Amino acid sequence: MPFLRDAHDRIIRDLRVSLTDRCNFRCFYCLPNGEPPLARKETILTFEEIERICEIFVSLGVEKIRLTGGEPLLRRDIEVLIEKLARLKSRDLNAQESNPKSKIQNPKLKDLALTTNGHSFPRRAADLKRAGLDRVTISLDSLDRENFRNITGVDALENVLQSIEAAKKVELTPVKINAVIVRGRNDDELIDFARFARERDVKMRFIEFMPLDSSRVWTREMIVSGKEIFSRINARFPLVLREKSRGAETAWRYGFADGAAGEIGIVAPVTEMFCGACSRIRLTADGQIRTCLFSTNEHNLRDFVRSGATRAEIIEFIKDVVLKKEASHRINDKEFVQPARTMSFIGG
Ligand code: SAM
Repeated sequence: MPFLRDAHDRIIRDLRVSLTDRCNFRCFYCLPNGEPPLARKETILTFEEIERICEIFVSLGVEKIRLTGGEPLLRRDIEVLIEKLARLKSRDLNAQESNPKSKIQNPKLKDLALTTNGHSFPRRAADLKRAGLDRVTISLDSLDRENFRNITGVDALENVLQSIEAAKKVELTPVKINAVIVRGRNDDELIDFARFARERDVKMRFIEFMPLDSSRVWTREMIVSGKEIFSRINARFPLVLREKSRGAETAWRYGFADGAAGEIGIVAPVTEMFCGACSRIRLTADGQIRTCLFSTNEHNLRDFVRSGATRAEIIEFIKDVVLKKEASHRINDKEFVQPARTMSFIGG
């Protein structure tokens, strides 16, 4: 089996690696009361372990790695890890002795990205770029200072705005901006966000609120559907669909009909499920593989790796886990059970 293919014929190309379960923001839709007891330090994967696991994933056809968390920039010396992972963009992975018959032509990492809340990003942007990071996604849920503080628990709007400029300056581009849109909290800012995308030439990504919050406040009434987001923005700034198919991407992407800079992306996992084309798999900070954001069970790769498993055995372990990837999430089913761990632990 050359690629990582699941039982539903989906090929895995995209690995999200959570570097820490800690976060310095208290977003009401994620981790409003801070972390429950953190994973013990010795259970968190070391940089060497992450590098080894990522190298194996890339040799199996993974092309994109996104570093996330928690807040990944809270992980000390993250630049060292980025340097190690960036080497996967040029190394000849077919040279690995346990993968001699790989049919993947010259497997290489093509895209190394990071998702951050932007808090400490401005002063670190240049080092991250130098280490080999390709691009960055920055979370920004309000353009109003008071509302930003209400949503995130931190008075840091200015930092985040500076992060966007810093990312552009060092060319960690295209810069994507994530905003989770929640009714009554920030949906009145949709037009401001669209204007922001035009004026700053950034790619806004509006995300539906998902049931992954630790305080379990999520209700369907709080969701602003992708369709509603589209029609409200389109009424003010007419939009044109960029591509008729979104492939394995999560967002429908739109440009502005008047040719203005910037882009609008709409990610609607609840009302317009896109599991059929999912190419993602996740590795938590404590080394558990999650085959879906909404998985209710995890696969302990950490202990398997630490048990002294060979490269070939790790490959078999990963292939077996991938075969168990869920056909789809079940948010809209009556029997839906919210996963025990929240977005900040899983790695968004
Ligand atoms: N700390 C980083 C950050 O703030 O971007 C990375 C981790 S954060 C969990 C990754 C993304 O998940 C953020 O863009 C955040 O807005 C999103 N997210 C967290 N909880 C969510 C939820 N319940 N529904 C939808 N998106 C969520």
